[in-house]
Amino acid sequence: MGKPTGFLENGRELPKKLEPIVRIQDNKEFVLNEEFGDKINTQASRCMDCGVPFCHNGCPIGNIIPEFNDAVYRDSWEEAWHILSSTNNFPEFTGRVCPAPCESACVLGINQDPITICNIEKTIVETAYREGYAQPKKPRSRTGKTVAIIGSGPAGLAAAEQINSAGHSVTVFERDEKVGGLLRFGIPDFKLGMDIIDRKINLMAEAGIKFEVNAHIGVSINAQQLRQDFDVVLLTGGSTVPRDLPIPGRELNGVHFAMEFLSQNNRRANDMDLKTKEIHAKDKHVVVIGGGDTGSDCVGTSNRHGAASITQVEIMPIPPEKRPANMPWPQYPMIMKTTTSHEEGCERHWNILTKEFISDGEGNVTGLRIADIVWQDAKPGERPGFNEVANSERVIPCDQAFLAMGFLHPEPTGVLAQLDIKLDDRGNVATNGFSTNQKGVFAAGDMRTGQSLIVRCINEGRECAREVDAYLMGNTNLEAKAGSLMLSAS
Ligand SMILES: Cc1cc2nc3c(=O)[nH]c(=O)nc-3n(C[C@H](O)[C@H](O)[C@H](O)COP(=O)(O)OP(=O)(O)OC[C@H]3O[C@@H](n4cnc5c(N)ncnc54)[C@H](O)[C@@H]3O)c2cc1C
Ligand code: SF4
Repeated sequence: MGKPTGFLENGRELPKKLEPIVRIQDNKEFVLNEEFGDKINTQASRCMDCGVPFCHNGCPIGNIIPEFNDAVYRDSWEEAWHILSSTNNFPEFTGRVCPAPCESACVLGINQDPITICNIEKTIVETAYREGYAQPKKPRSRTGKTVAIIGSGPAGLAAAEQINSAGHSVTVFERDEKVGGLLRFGIPDFKLGMDIIDRKINLMAEAGIKFEVNAHIGVSINAQQLRQDFDVVLLTGGSTVPRDLPIPGRELNGVHFAMEFLSQNNRRANDMDLKTKEIHAKDKHVVVIGGGDTGSDCVGTSNRHGAASITQVEIMPIPPEKRPANMPWPQYPMIMKTTTSHEEGCERHWNILTKEFISDGEGNVTGLRIADIVWQDAKPGERPGFNEVANSERVIPCDQAFLAMGFLHPEPTGVLAQLDIKLDDRGNVATNGFSTNQKGVFAAGDMRTGQSLIVRCINEGRECAREVDAYLMGNTNLEAKAGSLMLSAS
């Protein structure tokens, strides 16, 4: 522990951001990390190096947080990098867009603001690239075993880096023209730029991982062929079937799934082929349906397009401002979140029932009929119901709507059908550990768990890599999660 009194002397501070009016002019990242200077050491000095560091458990990959905080406080950046990269393959992603459940579990957070763990992580990885500490994770020797990974999101990429480092030859197959999954074509560039993804992919290619793009397994390449050609096939295709809104008018022009809009915008921002008919929010009255993070990304993107108005509606009640009694520390609390995209401007409404898209008579959406609702208390074992508030029905202007209500499960056709993969009752890939019902076929990430978070998918990829390595070699020396080592030792 660097400074025993750090948390008494210093408050929580984060780098400044460009003002909303400035940052919505383009799709670039807007957090001014480079200007933070040695304030980052001060922030790291706030870590109390607790006897039981709950942040470890809060972090799904078990990042060794007090140790890298201490190294940062002492300005020992290479050491901090080695600690961080021993558990996290992609701090350049998590340091930018992780919701930081570690910070919700930080002991200091009980009665003060928690440590800025996520930003410290970002600064460590950016320093590592600048100083040349970030290097390809090359294996010492090759085993001659081969592994095909289908899907290049964080789960597939984490598994690829780990399995390759154990000496197996890894080929990642991706149906898009570039790798990254939702990192590249989901999360807006203003939160995570494509250059950040490319920088890491280049290191992974240098380490010997092969990437085959425009390779749609189950369509352009039969999945059974991969089973014949490789010792292991790993499925990391994500959860890609979006939840729809089957109300009258759903078919009207201007009503889109959020991902159609978001992925196209990242393509536009990087001069790539849009692939589908252009969706642009300029001068539109935009309604975003769904109050979560994907909805918030639609808000930020619509502001960058110059929308006339942006309204985000959510059927659930407004979350509490502070941690409620039923979500005590160190749990990750479901509290009211105002994202940087919300700061840029939009109206937000909760307890809203969406009833009908209104047409202009020529097939285009022009309004959305909504009503207020009141939630009832749930009876034991039942889901809560709601009642519509009398006389609350109204039509709001809407000439573009984005459906951001989450994802149901992976696509059951194509690769999953060709390999005859068993699904669970939610439609995700059923596994025992990470093994599917087919010998030598594994699954990880959102395809296995349902929609999740980057950090959880990194964990999936790492843990699955251990199972794949053990399957191929009889045992594994790949790093286990710090938390799981502690558990097995007790
Ligand atoms: C708009 C949006 C914003 C998000 N923002 C955040 C955030 O800020 N922070 C956070 O932690 N999480 C965020 N998430 C969640 C996070 O992105 C996902 O949980 C994570 O990317 C899932 O990783 P994955 O590796 O399982 O799959 P994905 O990232 O979905 O990648 C799967 C890849 O597999 C490819 N693929 C699928 N089938 C085939 C096939 N048959 N052949 C070849 N390739 C195939 C797909 O093209 C895709 O590239 C966000 C999600 C969305 C939709
Ligand atoms: S990966 Fe996420 S949860 Fe883990 S330490 Fe980083 S910000 Fe916290």
